[in-house]
Amino acid sequence: MHAHTNIVKIGTSVKITVGSHVWVEDSALVWIDGQVSKITGQDAEIQTSNEKTVVANLSKLYPKDMEFPAHGVADMTKLSYLHEPGVLQNLAIRYELSQIYTYTGNILIAINPFQGLPHLYDTHAMEKYKGAPLGELSPHVFAIADVAYRDMANEGKGNSILVSGESGAGKTETTKMLMRYLAYLGGNTVTEGRSVEQKVLESNPVLEAFGNAKTVRNNNSSRFGKFVVIQFDKHGRISGAAIRTYLLERSRVCQISDPERNYHCFYHLCAAPPEEIERYKLGNPKSFHYLNQSNCHELLDVNDAQYYLATRRAMDIVGISEKEQEAIFRVVAAILHLGNIDFAKGEEVDSSVLKDDKAKFHLQMTSELLMCDPHALEDALCKRVMVTPEEVIKRSLDPLGAAVSRDGLAKTIYSRLFDWLVNKINFSIGQDPNSKSTIGVLDIYGFESFKTNSFEQFCINFTNEKLQQHFNQHVFKMEQEEYSKEGIDWSYIEFIDNQDVLDLIEKKPGGIIALLDEACMFPKSTHETFSNKLYQTFKVHKRFIKPKLARTDFTIAHYAGEVQYQSDQFLDKNKDYVVPEHQDLLSASKCCFVAGLFPLLSEETMKSSKFSSIGSHFKLQLQHLMDTLNSTQPHYIRCVKPNTLLKPAIFENANVMQQLRSGGVLEAIRISCAGYPTHRTFSEFVNRFHILSPEVLTENHEEKFVCQKILEKLGFTGFQIGNTKVFLRAGQMAELDARRAEV
Ligand code: ATP
Ligand code: MG
Repeated sequence: MHAHTNIVKIGTSVKITVGSHVWVEDSALVWIDGQVSKITGQDAEIQTSNEKTVVANLSKLYPKDMEFPAHGVADMTKLSYLHEPGVLQNLAIRYELSQIYTYTGNILIAINPFQGLPHLYDTHAMEKYKGAPLGELSPHVFAIADVAYRDMANEGKGNSILVSGESGAGKTETTKMLMRYLAYLGGNTVTEGRSVEQKVLESNPVLEAFGNAKTVRNNNSSRFGKFVVIQFDKHGRISGAAIRTYLLERSRVCQISDPERNYHCFYHLCAAPPEEIERYKLGNPKSFHYLNQSNCHELLDVNDAQYYLATRRAMDIVGISEKEQEAIFRVVAAILHLGNIDFAKGEEVDSSVLKDDKAKFHLQMTSELLMCDPHALEDALCKRVMVTPEEVIKRSLDPLGAAVSRDGLAKTIYSRLFDWLVNKINFSIGQDPNSKSTIGVLDIYGFESFKTNSFEQFCINFTNEKLQQHFNQHVFKMEQEEYSKEGIDWSYIEFIDNQDVLDLIEKKPGGIIALLDEACMFPKSTHETFSNKLYQTFKVHKRFIKPKLARTDFTIAHYAGEVQYQSDQFLDKNKDYVVPEHQDLLSASKCCFVAGLFPLLSEETMKSSKFSSIGSHFKLQLQHLMDTLNSTQPHYIRCVKPNTLLKPAIFENANVMQQLRSGGVLEAIRISCAGYPTHRTFSEFVNRFHILSPEVLTENHEEKFVCQKILEKLGFTGFQIGNTKVFLRAGQMAELDARRAEV
């Protein structure tokens, strides 16, 4: 992850003198507290609490709140000094006390406990949070769901809960908790034996079996984005639901790296009861190419055999029939066999044949399971039909080309299977067309920046830019509303936008996605020509950088940091293209389930050479999502992964800080710092600061007036007195404390 420069700064400078308690930057801990022992010009010497002496520029120091509550505060906006080190200290203290949830205003921060906390989520807890005003009880996901539900029920309008965070931060677990709580509030409509909410809840294990996998970051990583819209009737009961999914990672089906795994369902099926293993000719995962590229086959504490049965049960509940289930797992088995079809050089130049008897066996198995003709399957894998104006010829593929063709087929079948499942679940749960009261829950991949970043990261980070913009606008609006309510002036608060990055990516024409589509349509394009086009077009764009030594890489300065993308697979990955030979083969399958995954295309589509663009399609999906979100009342949950070991009780400062930055939590704080970060009720203010000007208190009894007078006497400017609260500029609270310490 690249260093980030947008560190939240306090606007007004605070007087720091010898003896001041401060926070200073530290390479290991990010921030360390200490006391100033000497000041020379602009440099301060600090004795840190871990007994080091460091020198730092005065402008880099933050005042430390010496009255910081021992148990931290449940709402970060209540911190006297709203700055990075204060935020970090608060979260660390709370995490140590197993308080994994903390608010920043209306935003919930959830730090993954990496251990079961059953008491936190049991029925008793649900009862407690039902109807309780936000902030009355300890911060919790249930509290957020409850607010969303009440907003929805009272005002009959759409709400949405956006859960974000990096891989392993706890988004999916949080989403499931939200859904469970909403089912608890809105349960008990029964349709055809199974209640709607039961179906909604059981859609999770089904989608996880087919869309989740073990990665290095998370043993149960969702490889797709998900937006579940729960619909309610006028009595506030769940009446339907719609699940939308985004960008399933297709490459995983045929390519995994150690120690990751393929999608869970493959291992579940390999651990199925003996009859099924026999029927599908399966066995040890090690015997399948799509699984044995990694040495990880089993997961600690996970019993694939039990999961197989659990997935089947969940399928029963969501309304997938026994016959359909048989077909689904037959297709999963077929993909495993397909992956074992190896090719060798054929007699003719650049041709290929099945490598050996093993390959022949797996070809036979694949065709039996998919119920298609084995010769047609072999041809579809090894040959391509070329249509020229004169004739139709069959051209052979070399072994490498045949393997690419095979993997392409596997990916296409799998992604169609996944889409089928989503459609089926939606159909079975049923939609309530009359419902205006909805709560959408978004569980989508967080910002990614790896050593190598490809088209997937590009799309994921594009998503995050979109969501970030939505988030900033929302936080800004909330802040404005608070100011309006208090009758104070906010007109000059500036709002920094990331529209320029979004334009760079999605502008039509001329953005990166548009240029990529152009490149894909032009047969002679290569990733070199594509990159050159980018370099030329965005030569002076503030957010676009051509890395010094790179020839085809490009860097985007995202809101959360710079990411360098490798363009070499962008063109291939952007093309959503099913080889006509594959299409013809499977639409002719004798199994209507398989044929149904490959519906016949119209003449029109067949003839058109125009490819369909994954990037543009995704952009549309995203726009649709944003339109939905924009029409709802949003609520935000930011999940944070406290360590990379996936272990309880370890809080790594640097890691957490990085996530708060890229998750926009600090941005929210920055926005509020730009205005009046400290809001204090008149009585709170008077209690803390009357000592600075005791005579005011004796002269007058109206608190509002007392506040005003204290601040004026001390020579403060820029603050505002609202209807019930004092609004202070950044740094003013610290300044007041400093003065108080001098008294
Ligand atoms: P990805 O982006 O990879 O899908 P994610 O953010 O969805 O990641 P989860 O799968 O929700 O992450 O969480 C990872 C793991 O962390 C879970 O499998 C679980 O072990 C643990 N975990 C997360 N949240 C909680 C929680 N509230 N209580 C207990 N354990 C949790
Ligand atoms: Mg997940």
